[in-house]
Amino acid sequence: MKEMSCKLLVIGAGPGGYVCAIRAGQLGIDTVIVEAGKLGGTCLTVGCIPSKALIHAADEFDAIRHASIGKSAMGINAENPSIDLAKTISWKDGIVGRLTTGVANLLQKSRVKIVHGRARFRDGKTVEVETETGQQLIRAEAIVIATGSDPVELPALPFEGRVISSTEALSLKEVPKNLAVVGGGYIGLELGTAFAKLGASVTIVEATEQILPLYDADLVKPVLRRLGQLGIKVLTSAKAMGLSANGEALLVETADGRKLDIAADRILVTVGRRPRTIGSGLEELDLDRSGPYLRIDDRCRTSMRGIYAIGDVTGEPMLAHRAMAQGEMVAEIIAGKKRAWDKRCIPAICFTDPEIVSAGLSPEEAREQGYEVKIGQFPFAANGRAMTMGAEDGFVRVVARADTNLVLGVQAVGSGVSELSASFSLAIEMGARLEDIAGTIHAHPTRSEALQEAALRALGHALHI
Ligand SMILES: Cc1cc2nc3c(=O)[nH]c(=O)nc-3n(C[C@H](O)[C@H](O)[C@H](O)COP(=O)(O)OP(=O)(O)OC[C@H]3O[C@@H](n4cnc5c(N)ncnc54)[C@H](O)[C@@H]3O)c2cc1C
Repeated sequence: MKEMSCKLLVIGAGPGGYVCAIRAGQLGIDTVIVEAGKLGGTCLTVGCIPSKALIHAADEFDAIRHASIGKSAMGINAENPSIDLAKTISWKDGIVGRLTTGVANLLQKSRVKIVHGRARFRDGKTVEVETETGQQLIRAEAIVIATGSDPVELPALPFEGRVISSTEALSLKEVPKNLAVVGGGYIGLELGTAFAKLGASVTIVEATEQILPLYDADLVKPVLRRLGQLGIKVLTSAKAMGLSANGEALLVETADGRKLDIAADRILVTVGRRPRTIGSGLEELDLDRSGPYLRIDDRCRTSMRGIYAIGDVTGEPMLAHRAMAQGEMVAEIIAGKKRAWDKRCIPAICFTDPEIVSAGLSPEEAREQGYEVKIGQFPFAANGRAMTMGAEDGFVRVVARADTNLVLGVQAVGSGVSELSASFSLAIEMGARLEDIAGTIHAHPTRSEALQEAALRALGHALHI
């Protein structure tokens, strides 16, 4: 068995692991990263990036199709558009390929050694890796677990045949005629909407009373409206029970006890993700857990000295930018810098149609925490740029402390609002008050003016409404 030693070993090269390794390398730490699959992890290969590529292609196709049936208010005409999904998928694969090569180059530039293979803990300082050329033993002073998460499988609908996870959905070569989506969270809605725009007849089955249950009803309303326009059927308070006897339909039980057969040549199950904590020798290490996740403190330390954990394996919110921020922080801690998790907000985005952004506290969360709040909401219907883009549905909402005007949260729903999310987070992270946002010149005409107007409105003197 080959052996090597290093100061830092990172297990998993998703956004958490590769960012941690790059920063550690920059800081002169002798670092090794082990990856069982492709560099970039879930996010780059079967998550954030491929889903956004598919969503963009679907948006383009939908806009052209809309024009082809004479529905373009802008007077655009097109004839008989069609889509070659296999070509779309190979375009998406090209983007993923460029990004994973980019990650390899960045790791090499930071002098990080990359080992391809599955890592398994032997003890708290030693890991065995099954590589193509045999067993590799790696001893490390510090180890970062960044093994990510897997899609949750429903016992009644195991992933096989027509029952697929988001991973397979992102590599379909043909648009399904009938697609049933089980789970109305952000992944199911993003992909369900994209397939509807590509021509599938889509039904969404959600067990709770509302799709996107983590967002308040006001934010979800414009998304529901658009799902209706796209002909997507939404069944809430409905349970997926399994496949029909002939295996060609999804059996669903509604809240009032009715049993429905939903014809589906593909059934996409997106009911959540579970941490990858089994199969890597983690069971034997017996690290403390928080539910199914690895328990960490404010420095991402686990219950065993010298072992850190970051990203999806440590729990919600399971988002790439949280994993990256944890990775960067842990590298600095291992290099001896004084760091602790002190972020005021982790923005969350649904790339639905329209998009939803939430940064910081919603009005309800702020009240639950005992704050008296001031709220300012500004609709895109009163924003010039939104009008010129035919994107008037939605709004920006600012939540601030009533006594000090300190901004506690900003939410938005509307076309393209994902690109506004950085200014929302920046305001919260910098401790901005309503007056700071209101007093900042926002370029005209942009949708970002809706943020300034929302702050002005909370102060009681909006200008354009
Ligand atoms: C369809 C979809 C869309 C998404 N969209 C977004 C989005 O728009 N924005 C967003 O922020 N997040 C999004 N996410 C979530 C995001 O992908 C994850 O939060 C993020 O990838 C977590 O990063 P990570 O580093 O913790 O783990 P991962 O990205 O899961 O990477 C973990 C890596 O560890 C490797 N590994 C596991 N065990 C071992 C082992 N024993 N030895 C060696 N290697 C191992 C795996 O092969 C994997 O490459 C999406 C997810 C999905 C599925």
